[in-house]
Amino acid sequence: MYLEKYRLNGRTAFITGAGRGIGLAAAHAFAEAGARVVISDQSEVLLAEGLGILKDAGHDAHAVQLDVTRSDDVRRVADDAQQQFGPIDILFANAGIAWPDTGGEDMTDDVWLRMIDINLNGVFWCCRSFGRHMLERGRGSIVTTGSMSGLISNRPQRQAHYNAAKAGVHHLTRSLAGEWAARGVRVNSIAPGYIDTTMSGAGLRIPGLGDVWLEATPMGRAGTAEEIASVALFLASDASSLLTGAIIVADAGYSIW
Ligand code: NDP
Repeated sequence: MYLEKYRLNGRTAFITGAGRGIGLAAAHAFAEAGARVVISDQSEVLLAEGLGILKDAGHDAHAVQLDVTRSDDVRRVADDAQQQFGPIDILFANAGIAWPDTGGEDMTDDVWLRMIDINLNGVFWCCRSFGRHMLERGRGSIVTTGSMSGLISNRPQRQAHYNAAKAGVHHLTRSLAGEWAARGVRVNSIAPGYIDTTMSGAGLRIPGLGDVWLEATPMGRAGTAEEIASVALFLASDASSLLTGAIIVADAGYSIW
């Protein structure tokens, strides 16, 4: 009875930023649970590699190139996806960037705007366009990727732009959850800590940087993309049927203090 609630048979999931990292791991998790998965990424090369890995594993996987900052493209892809793949039951709005680290006093307009455009605007464009279809059907689960940096300022890094964008993702998630709860669409977020993907992997291995991060992490280690994918599966599935507007912190304890 309980394990059945994690099953996604007959459902279709659309995942952004899924050419690698957390998005690709989530595609594996959703597909293993029985879903058809549609991965998207801005990079055609990453997308082709990711799709190959999923297909080699025998999954019902498809790929669509999408830059989440282009709201017209997001709308078109969301509309087309319903025709091409059937109703999209699950959206994992996950695409994001983290770099460069820049002190607030030195941050240029371009650096600030690019961060907000990808990490916050891109999440909203996806929630809006896929959410409309879910609301029409009265059913859907949206998961966004926030960050522990949306909860705390994460002092070892100088990332006011990243922190602000991720705090925005958390509050966007809670706002849409409140608006859509009575109409059958749940919206939840994951707040990962340091996860050993391309995004943070290089930093974790820089002496004097990675060890500072890990010393501040109570569990003393970084997470894996698969550990975040497990949380995404929980939130995407009926196992979390009572949750909406939740921010699940998966950071090895980093934000405790
Ligand atoms: P990765 O860099 O491994 O994967 C992110 C993917 O998103 C890349 O394939 C990237 O492609 C893609 N992407 C970037 N910009 C866009 C865009 N405009 N449109 C579509 N796709 C885009 O990082 P993670 O898997 O680690 O990160 C996934 C999410 O998790 C992000 O939102 C990140 O902020 C969040 N997160 C990650 C943490 C970590 O420590 N790794 C910690 C907390 C949160 P490309 O390389 O071509 O830009």
